[in-house]
Amino acid sequence: MDISSQLIEIVGKDRISNNPEELFIYSRDSGAQVPRQVDYVVMPKTVQEVRRVVLLANQEKIPITPLGGGFTLSALVVPNQGGIVLDMKKMDRIIEVNEINRYALIEPGVSQGALQSHLKKHHPHLQHSTPEAPPTVTVVGNALIQGHGHISPRYGVNSDMVNGMEVVLPTGEVCKIGSGSVSPSWFTRGPLPDLPGLFIGWFGTTGVVTKLSMKLFPKPAYREVMAFYTDDIDLISEGIFEVTQLDLLEDFFLISQEKPDWMDHVFFIIIISGHFEEEIEFKKNVFKRLFREFKGGGKFTFVEDLHPSLEKRFLDVPPLAALAADFRKGGGFEYTGAILPIDKVSEAWKKGIEISHKYGMVCSYVHQVLLGHSVMFGFNYSFNRADEEDIEKTRKALEESNQVTLDLGGMIWKGEVDAQQMTLERMDPNTVQLIKRVKKLLDPNGIMNPGNWEID
Ligand SMILES: Cc1cc2nc3c(=O)[nH]c(=O)nc-3n(C[C@H](O)[C@H](O)[C@H](O)COP(=O)(O)OP(=O)(O)OC[C@H]3O[C@@H](n4cnc5c(N)ncnc54)[C@H](O)[C@@H]3O)c2cc1C
Repeated sequence: MDISSQLIEIVGKDRISNNPEELFIYSRDSGAQVPRQVDYVVMPKTVQEVRRVVLLANQEKIPITPLGGGFTLSALVVPNQGGIVLDMKKMDRIIEVNEINRYALIEPGVSQGALQSHLKKHHPHLQHSTPEAPPTVTVVGNALIQGHGHISPRYGVNSDMVNGMEVVLPTGEVCKIGSGSVSPSWFTRGPLPDLPGLFIGWFGTTGVVTKLSMKLFPKPAYREVMAFYTDDIDLISEGIFEVTQLDLLEDFFLISQEKPDWMDHVFFIIIISGHFEEEIEFKKNVFKRLFREFKGGGKFTFVEDLHPSLEKRFLDVPPLAALAADFRKGGGFEYTGAILPIDKVSEAWKKGIEISHKYGMVCSYVHQVLLGHSVMFGFNYSFNRADEEDIEKTRKALEESNQVTLDLGGMIWKGEVDAQQMTLERMDPNTVQLIKRVKKLLDPNGIMNPGNWEID
């Protein structure tokens, strides 16, 4: 039997395609990377179907690329060596929400929007950490790339919120990880050998996640936004340090844009929340006092009259960027999220302006502070999708941003294949070999998303 017939036997004829029109969509993403070939798309509905597809691929040595929402923009879900795209969207059950232990056990096709509305309807006192990405992106895809959400400044990056998972290994075994491997409750990741790390940050090269337990957090009744701005770029790192010293934040991001003129400042956007109104008043006063009293604080201005439409955009979950990046008009948007140490943010800010100007773009920034320890620094570039020269300029700007990131001692986040190679080139050689050994152990035939974290 040919591969197509065998796949039909596993998932039925409606959930597999090798039709060129349908494969076209899977051969590219919304970012600036060059399209690549796909041979089949398969949409499994059950763990057993995933397992059977993986066993077939392993036997026939066909590459498999797992796909959630497909919105990393760095073509992580576009196969490098053809083969099967395993589109997980049909596995979209929210299996359990445990109120008291505050976790949700979900399948990999559950979107951010679906989990958010489920919680709003059935568990209004709980929330999960929602990225600024379009609501169709998956909770699992985001956690696996170490993404962040609207409460990450308070609780950490989203992969830290993973309690455990179920994974189909490249050789077909179905494996539970975290407390779910020992107990019926998926409430914690340890105390056990920390195996989730074998699947987080690997871009689908070590297995297919078929369930994931994600921590949920209290949802406060009140939220408010405060904005402060400065024109002194050298004060940014110190300002972030001071704001995060207070430990009173829900969300904290920095924005700036050269046009329109009124946005051409460094804005600190601080979201505070509380269960009682008094908490909000208290926190507001404390932040105003902080900016009055810390050494450089005098150079920040409090925005007394933030326009209501902006206030709404900042308070929305997800807030700003998903609205700003308008794919429907055919415009392109790309960014490299550099994970930077706080003390390098001021320097990166200046370098990012230089790169934008070099390629004739308006500099536009959204950076999220992650706990008090690092910053997701967004080197953002918008481009005309119909203009190949413009796209090429964007690729160059992205490459330079990645170079700057590494030069500053930062980390490239969710980087495309070339950016992963840049990271590997700088990595301790013994660590590179360790990655290679782990990968070989889990995926002896190299079928999982080959090309990513590839080591010769
Ligand atoms: C406008 C805009 C704003 C954004 N803002 C944010 C933000 O604030 N925070 C943030 O974190 N991100 C942001 N992003 C980046 C990205 O969209 C999100 O991180 C998104 O959640 C990624 O999820 P996904 O479902 O699209 O993942 P995908 O792109 O589908 O997958 C990501 C990686 O995980 C692998 N994978 C997916 N599912 C599985 C599985 N079941 N098993 C094994 N491997 C799997 C894939 O192979 C791929 O390597 C933004 C993107 C855009 C376009």
